Amino acid sequence: MKKSDTEKFKKLLEEELVLLEKELSGLGIKNPTNPSDWTPKMPEENISPADENEVADTIDDAQINNAIVNDLEVRYNNIKKALQKIEEGNYGKCEINNHPIDEKRLEANPSARTCKEHMNEDLQ
Ligand SMILES: [Zn+2]
Repeated sequence: MKKSDTEKFKKLLEEELVLLEKELSGLGIKNPTNPSDWTPKMPEENISPADENEVADTIDDAQINNAIVNDLEVRYNNIKKALQKIEEGNYGKCEINNHPIDEKRLEANPSARTCKEHMNEDLQ
């Protein structure tokens, strides 16, 4: 990949990282000992325990919040990884077979870790 293209993706990734960090800090608490781990905040505890419907709503909210935080966390960590790869000069290569990732795919998702062929593989 050309240096100018790498710079372009780096900028996109950095912008997305800032947005994700903002979203995450509204929904979760960063783990002080592990910066790639976020704990979802519990919803406001301003309900009276006597009202079972509200208790149920709060539990639903907590589960939804949890799912959102997990999803954002995965995206956040993928972006961090992509930025690290840029630093190492490995950006834009499939993590499975080392093939170059299609630039269109990177434009749609600058933190893509695999080529199209391996886009459904589970990665650690
Ligand atoms: Zn591949």
